[in-house]
Amino acid sequence: MAAQMDLLRDLCLAPGPTGFEAAVQEVVRRRLDRLGDAEGDPLGNLWLTVGPETGPLVVVAAHADQIGLIVTHVDEQGFLSVAPIGGVAPLLVPGRRFVVHGRGGAVPAVGGRKPSHIIPVEERRTAPDWPEQFLDIGAAGREAALERVAVGDPVTFAPDFVELAPGIVVAQALDDRAGLYTMIRALELYAEQPGTARLMGLSTVHEETTFMGAKALARRLRPDVILVVDGDFCTDTPAASAKELGGEVRLGAGPVVSRGAGGHERLAVWAQEAAAAEGLPVQVKAYGGETETDADELMAAGTAATLTIGLPLRYMHSPSEVADLADLDAAACLVAALARRIGEAGGLVDPAGPNETGGRGA
Ligand SMILES: [Zn+2]
Repeated sequence: MAAQMDLLRDLCLAPGPTGFEAAVQEVVRRRLDRLGDAEGDPLGNLWLTVGPETGPLVVVAAHADQIGLIVTHVDEQGFLSVAPIGGVAPLLVPGRRFVVHGRGGAVPAVGGRKPSHIIPVEERRTAPDWPEQFLDIGAAGREAALERVAVGDPVTFAPDFVELAPGIVVAQALDDRAGLYTMIRALELYAEQPGTARLMGLSTVHEETTFMGAKALARRLRPDVILVVDGDFCTDTPAASAKELGGEVRLGAGPVVSRGAGGHERLAVWAQEAAAAEGLPVQVKAYGGETETDADELMAAGTAATLTIGLPLRYMHSPSEVADLADLDAAACLVAALARRIGEAGGLVDPAGPNETGGRGA
């Protein structure tokens, strides 16, 4: 168990804002070396296949990148202007600790802000727009700052990984290092006990901004089934409700099987059956529209049936995302079991259409 916690910690502490995922992919590659030689492409995607040489190709995909900032300007006083990478709320910058990942090494930084005493009451619930935000690295001026940082350097929330309670972890990049952990463990479990399908683990890049990694690979790999493992919103805190987020998702209650636009109905049924057979807890969530994950792009390539398997996370896209390791381990078991089931069925998922329980229109 401790060894698995170490894997999740290593994945979370490696910096990887979109476009700068190399350090994360290195952690993934080093771990996958035990199973075989991972392949990659110039964009930065990484993948490895385990199981037999032939058979249906099942892909389990997670994204390597995380949200962050990028340095856009250094002013005369040595303060850094930044732009967001992915969905960063401006409120999360003032007063927070960051790290600028310069070519010469990590540079600690803080988000500048007015002293609370002089923030007008009407401004206390809002954040300055991006052009007014700045980071402070303690530099004496522009020249001193440029000795340590450069325009285009990526920035992350200060990397941190803490166990809040046994198995309950908080880190700044669990979206989607939780998914990478699940993907890696699923490959390891499947390699120990393979079925007749091939199982490919895929670590994609550029998910938080353009889904470019998934777009490129969906057309290249032509899999039969794609399982996307990504963070999903917990609704078990005062901060979020099941009514606004597609269903009740609780931390520690197991991976989340998506129904509707988030997944092929046959795969959703098989996932629930596989979980029941393995004694794994699962939760179900409804997607009326897009999933806003790599699944949307992978489905659009039209070669494969796709299912999103959510990993319960609290406080998504914040410096303090919270996950339960038990959910990730259950998700890895579920992926391996589902791959075996897909192999038994010959990988054939109703070629006539995706959601067989729905009407087919007039
Ligand atoms: Zn994600």
